[in-house]
Amino acid sequence: MSLFDRFEQAFMPNYGVPPVALARGEGTRVWDVDGRAYLDFIGGIAVTSLGHAHPALVEAVSSQVATLAHTSNLFLHEPEVLLAEKLLELLQAPGRVFLANSGTEANEAALKLAIKYGKRHGRTYFVAAENGFHGRTLGALSLTGKQAIRDQFGPFPVEVRFVPYGDADALKAAVTGECAAVFLEPTQGEAGVVPPPDGYLAAAREICDAAGALLVADEIQSAIGRTGHWFAHQADGCTPDILTLAKGLGGGLPIGACVGFGEAGTLFDKGDHGSTFGGNPVSCAAALAVLANVDLGHVRTVAARLRDGLEAIGHPLLKGVRGRGLWLGVVLTEPVSARVQKAAADAGFLVNALQPDAVRLAPPLVVTEQEIDAFVTAFPRILSEAAK
Ligand code: PLP
Repeated sequence: MSLFDRFEQAFMPNYGVPPVALARGEGTRVWDVDGRAYLDFIGGIAVTSLGHAHPALVEAVSSQVATLAHTSNLFLHEPEVLLAEKLLELLQAPGRVFLANSGTEANEAALKLAIKYGKRHGRTYFVAAENGFHGRTLGALSLTGKQAIRDQFGPFPVEVRFVPYGDADALKAAVTGECAAVFLEPTQGEAGVVPPPDGYLAAAREICDAAGALLVADEIQSAIGRTGHWFAHQADGCTPDILTLAKGLGGGLPIGACVGFGEAGTLFDKGDHGSTFGGNPVSCAAALAVLANVDLGHVRTVAARLRDGLEAIGHPLLKGVRGRGLWLGVVLTEPVSARVQKAAADAGFLVNALQPDAVRLAPPLVVTEQEIDAFVTAFPRILSEAAK
């Protein structure tokens, strides 16, 4: 029986059966179980910041696992302290950190902080964006504005009012003195890599300040250099009250972080929240290696090359390119992204059919100019193949 058939028999069908079975990787290159090579232009969904098997990540994780793999939160360890300090240094704002294992869990922590803030200040509801994605556990799902993945799982534990993403007037109307917090992605990832109009996040900051609500930036997909900045909000002239991180932070090891600034960093009392594995030494060592090795200058250079290269392609199936840095949505004129994903894999490139008319690109941040050129050169043929 093939690995695919065995997968189908052993697993719940929530993911379907993935089309490619990967065996190993090195840099931006991965090999499937049959030894076929691909250039990885999706990076485990914006996760493998340093590419596959980066020597610094391998060394950090191997030596940490051989030294001390786990302590629980009954004991502290140096890697977690170094990581929290490093994040705060990069954020250039005084704050406090909670470490979790995933993006969803980082958002659960943010929601619990916001609930405490609401109780303290007599605020009862939350605002989030239509089509936004914040995770699958019930708290994070309450904030997720995609009907298709919410519908069957309500009712939800908190009241969330949804507004169209990018519409500052709608946001202003929704955020009253009873709103505890607004949850936003600086660019909507799962919705199709959709950036808001310029000034939207700064407007959200002003709206929250005026109403006394917290602003929560979900940077689980957008941070750690992905947009050419450590954190996407830094380019938007807006500091959130709460920031959530995951994905690229661990470079492939599971870790999430929730950072609270000002009052939001002081809301949890002893015993209010916790996680057995959150902030474990191995994941912290991985995150420290990522933060020490991401080169923002390189990201900006190769990102510009990718975008310019794609925008120079004239093809009837290519409508345009949106997104920031090494995080792009390639928008199609027809809803055939699944065919583009398949044609790309056949041509030796891994991309992601994110929406019927949008293909996501999020290569490792170490992708080289030659690898970008190889993709840009192959893409017109991939599109033509998909259009057949
Ligand atoms: N928030 C955003 C913006 C995301 O893109 C994701 C995952 O795609 C999540 C939260 C959930 O993160 P995780 O899958 O690590 O739980």
